[in-house]
Amino acid sequence: MKCISRESRVFSSGGYVYIPLSEDSSPMPGYGEIVDMPPRLPLHQSFPRAIRGSYDRIGDIAIIKLRNSQRAADLADAILRSGSGVVSVWKDSGIQGEYRTRKLEWLAGEKKTVSLYSENQARFMLDISKVYFSPRLATERMRLARRIHDGEYIIDMFAGIGPFGIIIAKNRDVEITCIDANPDAIHFMKESIKLNKLKGKISPVLGQVETVMHGLPRADRIIMNLPHDSMNYLDLAKASLKDDGIIHLYMIGSMADTEENMEKIRKNGLTVTDKRIVHGYSPTESLISLSLRKTL
Ligand code: SAM
Repeated sequence: MKCISRESRVFSSGGYVYIPLSEDSSPMPGYGEIVDMPPRLPLHQSFPRAIRGSYDRIGDIAIIKLRNSQRAADLADAILRSGSGVVSVWKDSGIQGEYRTRKLEWLAGEKKTVSLYSENQARFMLDISKVYFSPRLATERMRLARRIHDGEYIIDMFAGIGPFGIIIAKNRDVEITCIDANPDAIHFMKESIKLNKLKGKISPVLGQVETVMHGLPRADRIIMNLPHDSMNYLDLAKASLKDDGIIHLYMIGSMADTEENMEKIRKNGLTVTDKRIVHGYSPTESLISLSLRKTL
């Protein structure tokens, strides 16, 4: 009969609890039965393996990214029945257009697209069909906010509904100009600002960065979250940056692509002070964050 060994510790990993057994019949040396622990798992990991998949949750809306229609429909059904508070499920087949909005197909529940979302003790209102928003950047937004000092002037060039600006201004007494070309993004940015008590001040600006930036004071810090295109706006950002100011640039690519871009960055009189992978994007590419200091 199997019994628990006292020679090793019980541990959890990858959604499983591993219990050391005294017999040698275990799938891992020293460990025995694999015991699922659904109550403590994130929602999607508690579903049967056949319908597990990746999805984003924005308030009471779930967005599924599975390509297989049957698996997406099964997962949508399971999410709605899970009692998690999700009332509407949509399928996302990719980001499109200048405004970087999601191509959505309704799967299950209510056909609603406007939702209230909370992150890092801040609240946002948005329409998932009209504006870009990624809950996967929550940790990155807080990480950036912690590096910022009171009194800074910041420009967020591609602000969307302003999640970087709002998280920063909630934690720091700064002035931030948040620019976006999408009128719906500026509308929901203004609504989201009203939902939060901010230490700092945010000025939402509707327009193309190419025109708006020239009329702004030079900034201590510039945020560039347009991951497929940021490099094309580097000269514009640098011209709007104070000497010794910092650019936080996000790009999609492999680390090798980043190395290629390093040359362009150095020639531009910018020094890379930090380079990190934020999260995976495809089997070969990641979302990469670069911090660049203006040195020339
Ligand atoms: N920073 C936001 C966030 O993290 O949620 C939004 C990032 S989204 C990838 C890029 C945003 O840039 C979109 O909201 C889009 O409308 C805006 N955009 C794209 N090109 C622009 C331009 N030339 N001038 C101003 N905004 C632009």
